[in-house]
Amino acid sequence: MATLAQPSLAFTHLPHPSPVPVDVRKAALADPGFGKLFTDHMVSIDWTEGEGWHSAAVGPLQAIPLHPAAAVLHYAQEIFEGLKAYRLEDGSMALFRPEANAARFNESAKRLAMPELPEDIFVQACRELVAVDKDWFPAVDGGSIYLRPFMIATEPFLGVRPAKQYKFMVIASPAGNYFKSGAPAVSLWVSQYTRAAPGGTGAAKCGGNYAASLVPTAEAFARGHDQVLFLDAAEHKWVEELGGMNLYFVFDDGTMVTPPLLGTILPGITRDSLMALARDEGLTVKEERYSIDQWRADAASGRLVEVFACGTAAVVTPVGRVTDPVDGEFVIGSGGPGQLTGKLKDRLVSIQRGQAPDPHGWVMRLG
Ligand SMILES: *Cc1c(COP(=O)(O)O)cnc(C)c1O
Repeated sequence: MATLAQPSLAFTHLPHPSPVPVDVRKAALADPGFGKLFTDHMVSIDWTEGEGWHSAAVGPLQAIPLHPAAAVLHYAQEIFEGLKAYRLEDGSMALFRPEANAARFNESAKRLAMPELPEDIFVQACRELVAVDKDWFPAVDGGSIYLRPFMIATEPFLGVRPAKQYKFMVIASPAGNYFKSGAPAVSLWVSQYTRAAPGGTGAAKCGGNYAASLVPTAEAFARGHDQVLFLDAAEHKWVEELGGMNLYFVFDDGTMVTPPLLGTILPGITRDSLMALARDEGLTVKEERYSIDQWRADAASGRLVEVFACGTAAVVTPVGRVTDPVDGEFVIGSGGPGQLTGKLKDRLVSIQRGQAPDPHGWVMRLG
């Protein structure tokens, strides 16, 4: 969908008339969990065909009126992003690679026939929200404010075509550590379901992909596993990713492998950042297809020493074991967190928190 030349938008500021009382907020922030608590404000920007983006506002977090025929409710024209605001050593706040989220958001928009949002407006929206809700930063170790930018089709109609009205929003959720006890190694269940097919929407960050992953994820949980592992749709052989995290394989010769971005895998920003950091460390990183049979064989021979999953929410999560419904379980290394996994996680987290130099210019300081 073509994007009209967009003059920069002025945000209207409507402070919350009755924000959450300070004592209530402080009590909630002592144990924020993940995705359960929301700050006082939200950003909203509307798009209308012929007019482009307009009515940008930072206002009270509240329910949004939606016509029952709004296109998002019927044909799932919805995309989203996820990024965190961190507190740096010096007490100031920062975003991590928000332009990368903005660029990916537009790739998702194109695939879902939605209008693109100029990257600077996406970033500004995130900055505005963090600025107004900075008191919601959780004091807990590993805390952050998780930002959820998203876009929905709001036009009321029941035809199958791209909508002519959309709403872009950003909401914010204070977050503790995604996994309560730090990062224990997780157990994966190899799903018979697939997440994404060639030519489908696997590379777009859209709610529809997640809707389709709920049954496989529930199945993994019911069988006592932590996460679901998806193989490719065509051959059911090549490792793709987890429900919401990319995968890395670490071998005893110092090489790392991650599945290539061929349109069925979400191009993770954590995946990309870790690739750069691993190369900085002198490791060889290959984007190569890797089969589940090879994985099992390499785990057995000891050639494969560590496996980890990565994504914004949990950063880096070691994978300890894998269970296939046909061939049964296998264990990677000792079944616990690996050394390189921990090292790469520390490298990334210390850059995100301003405790280490930022050679790639990833950290965007907020005023
Ligand atoms: C968001 C997401 C990821 C991780 O992306 P990051 O940018 O690293 O947070 C991986 N897989 C899926 C399916 C996702 O939706």
